[in-house]
Amino acid sequence: MTLAQDGLPPLREVVAAFDLSPKKSLGQNFLFDLNLTGRIARAAGPLDGVAVVEIGPGPGGLTRALLAHGAKKVIAVERDARCLAALQAIAAHWPGRLDIVEADALSLEARLLVDKAGRAPIRICANLPYNVATALLVRWLEAEPWPPFYERLTLMFQREVALRIVATPAERADYGRLAVLAGWRTKARILFDVPAAAFTPPPKVTSSVVELVPRAEPAACDLRLLSGLTQAAFGQRRKMLRQSLKSFAASLRVASSDLLVAAGVDETRRAEEVDVDGFVALARAAEKIHQSH
Ligand code: SAM
Repeated sequence: MTLAQDGLPPLREVVAAFDLSPKKSLGQNFLFDLNLTGRIARAAGPLDGVAVVEIGPGPGGLTRALLAHGAKKVIAVERDARCLAALQAIAAHWPGRLDIVEADALSLEARLLVDKAGRAPIRICANLPYNVATALLVRWLEAEPWPPFYERLTLMFQREVALRIVATPAERADYGRLAVLAGWRTKARILFDVPAAAFTPPPKVTSSVVELVPRAEPAACDLRLLSGLTQAAFGQRRKMLRQSLKSFAASLRVASSDLLVAAGVDETRRAEEVDVDGFVALARAAEKIHQSH
């Protein structure tokens, strides 16, 4: 058998040998091109001394690239037990550097990852299963305390989700709760697109690799209030804020126009016209009102 550059078998052969036929229910769209997985690993780098958390290693294409690009350690969290033997072969090839965790990433405590990383800084890098990608991102963006347990996220999403992460009020249709949360706590940008044909099986849409770097000091405001505000405002995104924030403001026992005046936000604006600073100002005003009652 001809081995790949890293001395391991080509991924197509790994998938055949371990009978890893992709399962749609687990969002399994595999990458077999080691040049592409290398590009993603480089985007997450430099990796010297870094513990990389990879969600959903599958047959291990990106895992292998992360190890070949010098990650001190890869902590690979996979839900599909069928993939474990293939991953163990990679662990044997890179002794002491691949820690395989069989788990559902959605129910994984950050504490476990921190313990496994030892003193190494953590970066998260993954070709995420599309069915849980947004839920995982929101969890990482809502991490407490902040700055979070990771120093960078380098993640593959469907392009449509990537656009919703990096959107500003200038991109109205894409701008929403996710963009406010991501923009408040991180600097987010799309690094490059990956065509559907790069995956096996190919998904219906283009994907994009997104980088999110946590802000050391995001504007101070209460996460729960910010979340409640964006939920109310974008829940009725075509309505003026004085209307869409009525029940939210009522829960603070004020009129929405008073909340908006206190935050310095024009009451005739719609959610999609208010930037991250505007929502932070609203959350701060809401907190002051709440404390004064
Ligand atoms: N990293 C591989 C690649 O790039 O070829 C596979 C990526 S595939 C898009 C997503 C992977 O996430 C699959 O291996 C799937 O089994 C795994 N997965 C799906 N849901 C998961 C979950 N809740 N927790 C952990 N892994 C999950």
